[in-house]
Amino acid sequence: MFDPDEQVRQAVEDLFAEFTATGSAMGVVKAFATTGRLFPQRKWGGAWDGQIKWGRLTHARVLQAVKNPVYAGAYAYGRSYDARKVREDGTVAATKVKRARADWTVLIQDHHPGYITWQQFLDIEAKLAANNTKAGFRPPREGSALCQGIIFCGVCGGRMGTRYGDGGRVHYLCQHSNPHRTDACRTVAAVTVDDAVSALLLDAVTPQQLKLAVKAADELTDRYTRSHRAAELAVERARYDADRAERAFSNVDPENRLVARTLESKWEAKLQALADAEAALLTAQAARPPLPERDALLALAADLPRLWHHPDTQARDRKRLLRTLIADVTLLSEQHKDQVRIGVRWHTGAVDELTAGRIGPGRTPEAALALIRRHGATHTSEQLAAMLNAQGLRTGRGHRWSTGGVARVRDYYTIRAPRTVAIRNGEISVKQAAAELGIPADAIYNWLRHDQVPARRGPSGRWCIPWDPDTQAIYQRKVAASFRLKPNPTRNGNRAV
Ligand SMILES: [Zn+2]
Repeated sequence: MFDPDEQVRQAVEDLFAEFTATGSAMGVVKAFATTGRLFPQRKWGGAWDGQIKWGRLTHARVLQAVKNPVYAGAYAYGRSYDARKVREDGTVAATKVKRARADWTVLIQDHHPGYITWQQFLDIEAKLAANNTKAGFRPPREGSALCQGIIFCGVCGGRMGTRYGDGGRVHYLCQHSNPHRTDACRTVAAVTVDDAVSALLLDAVTPQQLKLAVKAADELTDRYTRSHRAAELAVERARYDADRAERAFSNVDPENRLVARTLESKWEAKLQALADAEAALLTAQAARPPLPERDALLALAADLPRLWHHPDTQARDRKRLLRTLIADVTLLSEQHKDQVRIGVRWHTGAVDELTAGRIGPGRTPEAALALIRRHGATHTSEQLAAMLNAQGLRTGRGHRWSTGGVARVRDYYTIRAPRTVAIRNGEISVKQAAAELGIPADAIYNWLRHDQVPARRGPSGRWCIPWDPDTQAIYQRKVAASFRLKPNPTRNGNRAV
């Protein structure tokens, strides 16, 4: 079904040519983008009905095209159906569910001229399935998440996906599409796992430990060879048994049919046992653990930390290095909400377990949180960040505090910023005045109720005290005049300006 528009036809042809060249939908998008080529889209409905708009080619559009049998000259109907589902809140959600090709209502091949042949359509389908990294082996992919593709959920056992979010935030998550997913399955910031795992890797791969790793690898190979040898012996034994049964059968007097039949079925059973043993040997031979080459391991030895942190080292190289040594990473269940437990399985068969602190709001270290709570109402986030850094306090991730970081903690713990107490006009709250004067806040509230000291009500009804020298003097006189309050003389001296 060729579009009457020559330019449209050319673009669709280009799309398929680029898919053949690059082997992936992403490759097509990149090829179009780097050459500034646009792709047509027919608009349906509205003022643009039936007209063509040219725009950037999207990944979804490429998939839509290469998966659509119409471009392969086929007529298909019933490729999907609408499924309705009642959500928890009672609303109804309609989703399109794709059918397997065998379940399509109608499929007529060679129905019209296509851009590609039906065989090419099938090839693309197979290629897409191979690219679809949700299943099977995952080659290292671009992206900063180190454990992408080798991280598993310890709750349901499923492979965890990677989500690249806004602002470079990356998470490993147990995807909703995972059929084994449970409510206990979790999402974790990739940096939490990656930092812990790469620290373990760099720590483990000292030359000394590498020798141990190589030794362990050798042992594993040895163990493999031995189990392999057992299977070989079983085959030899089965072959010997079968030979003997064959001899017994061929030696029997053919006239003695009953005996001959018995011996024949015995021989057949032995042949079957031989076939089974041979199959078991093949399985044992195929089950060779994916061990890295001994030389590759040794070559990595001393240089690893330098290589790892080198600015020219790409994320994909780090991933490759990681995979040379680590078979997989499992996010284990952990009672403690603020921590993750990470299981690391090395190719040598050794297993390590790590615990890492989770990051993000709600995981602010106690000391820093206490400071933010104490001074949150009287200091801006910028001031708080400076105070925290001056005291050497760090974020949950061990970083210096930024204004934004403090603001996020405020949001999470509902610690109000000074705006609401009008500190900007040189005013302070009753609490702060009490702290400044070294007296209980109740005393100040008492004076305020009796209109004995100056202050104004803020918009929220909160008392705002203008803390200029004159007002301070009034408050200090009140303190000095009080029998019950005992002002601190040194503090008075400090403030006597
Ligand atoms: Zn899970």
